[in-house]
Amino acid sequence: MEKNPIRKPPAGRGGIAPIASPGTRALGVYRALRKAIIEQALRPGMKLPEDTIGDRLGVSRTLVREALARLAIEGLVDLKPNRGATVAYPTLEEARDVFDVRRGLERLVAELLAGRITPAQASELEAHVRLEEAALERGGPEAIRLAGEFHIKLVEMTGNALLCRYVQELSSRCSLILAIYGRPHSSECAVSEHRELIEAFVKGDAKRAAELMDHHLQAVVSRALIAPRVEQDIRDLLAPYAASEGLIGQ
Ligand SMILES: [Zn+2]
Repeated sequence: MEKNPIRKPPAGRGGIAPIASPGTRALGVYRALRKAIIEQALRPGMKLPEDTIGDRLGVSRTLVREALARLAIEGLVDLKPNRGATVAYPTLEEARDVFDVRRGLERLVAELLAGRITPAQASELEAHVRLEEAALERGGPEAIRLAGEFHIKLVEMTGNALLCRYVQELSSRCSLILAIYGRPHSSECAVSEHRELIEAFVKGDAKRAAELMDHHLQAVVSRALIAPRVEQDIRDLLAPYAASEGLIGQ
C-alpha cells in the first residue's frame, strides 16, 4: 500500500545525500550547515571560513556565501564586514526574546490544532513521541533534534505556511540558544508533555491545549536554565565553592 509521499522531509540522517543540480546544491550547502549548527557540531561563536567550507563540501565560495547569508537572516550565523562569518552567539537577553515570541506563536499553533487534527495525524504524532523516547534512552543530539521536529510537525499540521516559516526559524534559534545556555546534553522537551499536548488536541480543548503549550515552553526555558530571573539563593551558589574548600556550613 504505497501512498503519495507528499510533504516527506528529506532524510539525510547520516550525512549529505548526493546532490545534482546547482539549485539543489545550494540548498544542500544551506541544509548541511544548518544541521551542523543545530546539532551543535559547529559551536556558537565558531568561525565559518567560506573557502574551507567550500572545499569540504565540494562547492564554490559563492554557494557557501549564499548559504551563510540565508542562515544569517535566520539568526544562526553572524556576518561581520571584514571579519567573515561565525556561528551566531545570541545574548541572554536575545535568547529570552526568542523564547517569548516562540511561546506566543506556538500557543496559536495549539489553539489551531485543538479539535482539528485527524486520527491519522494523531497517530503520526504518537509514533514520533515513541521515537523521542527511544532516542532519550540512547542520549546525544538526536533526542534534541527529534524534540524540535515534534514542534515542526505540529505547525505543519496547521497548514499555515507563514506560521510554519516563523516557527521553524524560531525553533532553529532555540536550538542554538540551548547549545549556549542549556545544560550539557539537556533535552529540550519532556516527552510526557508532548503526550499531554496530543491528548488535548484530540479532545478538542483549545484553551487547555494553549495553556499546556505555554507551560511546556516555559518549562523548556527553565530546564535550559536561561530564565534565572528568580533570585538564586546565595547558599546554593556558594555550595560548590564551600565544598571545594572543605568547608561545611548550613
Ligand atoms: Zn516540546
